[in-house]
Amino acid sequence: MPTIIDSHAHCSNRRDDALIPYAKKNGLRYDLSELLTKMRSNGVEAGLLLSPPLDDGSPLPNQAVMDLCEQSGGLLFPVLTVEPSREAVSLALALAKSHSNSVKGFKVRLGYLPVFADDPVFDPLYDHAIQEDLPVLFHAGDTATSSGSLVHAHPLTLDRLANRRSDLKIVVCHMGNPWIMDTAELVYKHANVYADLSGLVAGDSRYVKEYIDYLAAKISDAVYFAGGAEKLLFGTDYPVQTHENSLELVRRIKVERADADRILGSNAKRLFAL
Ligand SMILES: [Zn+2]
Repeated sequence: MPTIIDSHAHCSNRRDDALIPYAKKNGLRYDLSELLTKMRSNGVEAGLLLSPPLDDGSPLPNQAVMDLCEQSGGLLFPVLTVEPSREAVSLALALAKSHSNSVKGFKVRLGYLPVFADDPVFDPLYDHAIQEDLPVLFHAGDTATSSGSLVHAHPLTLDRLANRRSDLKIVVCHMGNPWIMDTAELVYKHANVYADLSGLVAGDSRYVKEYIDYLAAKISDAVYFAGGAEKLLFGTDYPVQTHENSLELVRRIKVERADADRILGSNAKRLFAL
C-alpha cells in the first residue's frame, strides 16, 4: 500500500463556512469526525488542514484550524492562511513561531484580494518560510466565488516570485486549473515549485465522469511535460472534492506506478517533513 497524504483539506465548526454548499453537493456532513473517518477508510495517513473561507469572504481564523488539528489525534497538521496586510503577516508569523512543531506551512489566497504573490507585504513571511524550510501554498486558478480576480489568481504570476526567491518552496494549488499546462511549465522551470491536485472535481455536473477523464489526461500531459512527478501532490480540498473522486483521479493518470505513489504521498512526506 502506498503512503497517502492529503496536502489540502478544509474544516470548521462554523455555520457561515462558505464551503458548506460544496459539502452538500457532495453529500458530505463536513465536520472533523467525518473528515477523520474518510481519511482512515481511504488509507490517508496524514493531512494538512487549511482555513476555509467564510460567507463574508474572510478566512477562518488560524487559531480555529490549530484547534481542529489538536483534536485530530495526530492526523492533521495546520497550514496558516496569511492575508495581505502587515498585521496578518505578523500575527501568522507569531503563531507559527509559537507552534513550530506542528505548523507545516502557509497559504496565500491569490484571486480573492487584488494582490500578487510578490507583493512586498509578504516579504517577512517568505523570509521566515525560507529560514524554517516551510512551503507556502498559493491558491491559483478558478476562484470559488464569481467576484474573484483571475488576473491575480493566474499561476504564471508566481513565476516572478519563484525567480526572486529560488529557495522558497512554492506550492501551486489545484494545478492552477484551468491553466494546468502553465502550472506544468512552472513546475518544470523552477526546482522550487510544486503543485497540488486538490479540488479539481467540484460539484455535480452531468459530465463528472468525462471531466475526471479530461483532468486525468491533462495531468498526465503535465507529468510528461515536466519529465516526472516528483513535485505533484495528492490533495482532496475536502469538502470541495470527495476522497473517492480524488483517489479516482490519481488512478486514472497514465503514469508509472512509482510516479503515482510519489503523487499520493512520498512527495508530500518529504516536502512537509511529515
Ligand atoms: Zn482549498
